[in-house]
Amino acid sequence: MGVVLSLLRKHSDKKKARKAGAIMDKTVNSTSPVSAAAAAIPEMTKTVTSSGSSSDEQLSINIVGAGLGGLGAAISCAMGGHNVRVIEQAKEISEIGAGLQVTPNGSRLLQHWKVPEAFWGTVAEPMDVYVHRYAGEVLYREQDFNTRMRAKYGAPFVDVHRADLQQALYKRALELGVTFSLDERVVSLDVAGRTDTSLTTASGKTFSADLVIGADGLWSQCRKTFLGDTPRSKPIPTGDLAYRIVLTLNDITDEDLRQWVRNPTVHFWIGPGAHAVGYSLRNGDMYNIVLLVPDTLPGTVAKEKASVEEMQALFSSWDPTLQRFLGYVDSVDKWKLCHMEELDHWVNDEANLVFLGDACHPMLPYLAQGANSSLEDGAVLGTILSHVKEKAQLRTALHSYEALRKQRGEAIVRETFAQRADFHMVDGEPQAKRDEVLRAGPRWETLSAFPSRWNCPKVQPWLYGYDAIAEAGKEVAKWSSQAKQEAPVAIHANL
Ligand SMILES: Cc1cc2nc3c(=O)[nH]c(=O)nc-3n(C[C@H](O)[C@H](O)[C@H](O)COP(=O)(O)OP(=O)(O)OC[C@H]3O[C@@H](n4cnc5c(N)ncnc54)[C@H](O)[C@@H]3O)c2cc1C
Repeated sequence: MGVVLSLLRKHSDKKKARKAGAIMDKTVNSTSPVSAAAAAIPEMTKTVTSSGSSSDEQLSINIVGAGLGGLGAAISCAMGGHNVRVIEQAKEISEIGAGLQVTPNGSRLLQHWKVPEAFWGTVAEPMDVYVHRYAGEVLYREQDFNTRMRAKYGAPFVDVHRADLQQALYKRALELGVTFSLDERVVSLDVAGRTDTSLTTASGKTFSADLVIGADGLWSQCRKTFLGDTPRSKPIPTGDLAYRIVLTLNDITDEDLRQWVRNPTVHFWIGPGAHAVGYSLRNGDMYNIVLLVPDTLPGTVAKEKASVEEMQALFSSWDPTLQRFLGYVDSVDKWKLCHMEELDHWVNDEANLVFLGDACHPMLPYLAQGANSSLEDGAVLGTILSHVKEKAQLRTALHSYEALRKQRGEAIVRETFAQRADFHMVDGEPQAKRDEVLRAGPRWETLSAFPSRWNCPKVQPWLYGYDAIAEAGKEVAKWSSQAKQEAPVAIHANL
């Protein structure tokens, strides 16, 4: 424990040195989270405020990837007082034109981050959720879903156009002073055996920083650096693919379907080895359909233009309403759905590289949690980093982030596979039993999980009830109480 006091002294010496304009000692000495926590003690007594607390000393942070995860992390780290740059390979910030379900665990973060108010005018808030047998019968309906969500979780469940969300996050990040380097593809990363980092892009530019956040998605170059170009660093096909469709009201002439789109709801159709989901976007001006079917893409192909006729044929025995919607489709792509072996760590040994989002926990989109959980990652990381005052504290902070996020991220991945098992049952006795359970509705006492986890009294609360900022705040509070417990002993030991 004597080490604690000496670390405290070191810390206060460093602070004085900084004030005198001296160059910071860049060596990370502590190797265990506990000893690093001790190093972090004096500064980690702040409470997390609703606007996010901000550090006295800025860390420089390079985020690779301006997907929803990278943008969320950029906002959160900038709100925490750090100096943030996002390096993105795309020429401009423009997500592909498809829908995204933002569940309360994600929307509460958008509220916290104060994304531009105009964003909320673009969303559709579904009033009811339906689960249909594939031929059309409604097996389960949850009414007043919108009001129930707000009442239960204090934040809305909204269906959004990805581009709207990405633009809103981008604008907010710019407002907070985040720098963007677009059209820069990161090709190499130098993090091993050093406390700072340097990365190089295809154009030959190098960017250095105290910390790199790998938010570069499923095919992450940062992960390749971390694990080496090994089979473990590669995504694994889940066996399913997704057709993604967006129709505007102008595309749809059938008045019944136009009414369906104008009155936001979520519909699932569940069938043997496949399911479909449909929901409105942009205040009922657009309709998003995702069809989830067995993967027929060649092993190396991640995305391909698909045959509309082939897609329609796959659903020719499904609900006529769904088929009518599919009749309006004139072009469609199919996307291979991948996951990955769980990583041992999300932080490297040097504590200068950390992962979030699809780069470390890609999942099936069957619970709409990929983007939502990447926003959670960014919120936790930024909140924890807002309490970091110097690089020596990074190790503790990043280990805390990993401890909070890895287990949850991986549990969500597993739950997406459980949802597939329930939604994709082939016709037979287990499917008939599942349908009975759905028709009866969720019953807390008798269920391990309701076959639609979207409405499940056990799964839904741990997914939607999670407050990433509060969880991170609790973790930071633990550091302070640990400091209080350790400090008297440390002083005593040195007397
Ligand atoms: C059909 C489908 C439906 C889905 N629906 C939902 C849903 O409703 N709700 C939900 O929460 N999730 C959903 N998801 C999942 C969600 O889209 C992803 O989990 C989420 O977008 C991951 O965000 P990310 O920022 O981690 O990665 P990405 O969005 O993949 O972003 C990574 C970024 O990094 C950039 N990049 C990559 N490599 C480099 C490099 N070397 N240098 C520089 N930049 C680089 C990329 O250009 C990209 O901008 C769905 C997924 C699919 C396939």
